[in-house]
Amino acid sequence: METRIGVGYDIHRLVSERKLFIGGVEIPYIKGLLGHSDADVLIHAICDALLGAIAEKDIGELFPDTDPKYQGISSSELLKVVLELVRKKGYQVSNLDTVIIAEEPKFAPFKNRIQESLSKIMNIDKDRVGLKAKTNEGLGELGRKEGIACYATVLIKKES
Ligand code: MG
Repeated sequence: METRIGVGYDIHRLVSERKLFIGGVEIPYIKGLLGHSDADVLIHAICDALLGAIAEKDIGELFPDTDPKYQGISSSELLKVVLELVRKKGYQVSNLDTVIIAEEPKFAPFKNRIQESLSKIMNIDKDRVGLKAKTNEGLGELGRKEGIACYATVLIKKES
C-alpha cells in the first residue's frame, strides 16, 4: 500500500453581511468570510492538503477567483472535484486532521456537525475526521477577530 501526506492552510477576512460557512455548515455569527466562493476556509485548507498529497495545482490555480463560474459556489462542490482528482489517481482518503483558528465564534457547539458534514462530503467515517478549534490568544489579526484561518493535514492511500 502506498501512502501520501498533504498539508493545507487558508485564511479569509471576516466581514459584515456575509454568511459564515465552515466545513459545509452555516454557523450563526454577526459576520461571514469574504471570498469569491462561499469562502469556506476549512474546506479550502482541506482541498489544498488533498491537492498537495497528489502534487497537483493548488486550489487558487484550479478554481481561479477571476472565473465567474465559481462566484458564490459552495466549497463542498470544489472539494468534490478535488476528491475526484484524488480518486482518479487511484487514492482514497485514509484520514484528515484539521485546526480552526478563530477568536470568535466558539466552535465547540458545532464541532460534531462540522465533522459529520465533512465525513458526508468526503464519504469517509466521522472518526477519520479530526477537528480542533482554538483562539489566537488575542494576538495579531486573528486575535482582533479580523479573520479565520485553518490548517488541514490529510493522509491518502493506494492499495497496490
Ligand atoms: Mg480560500
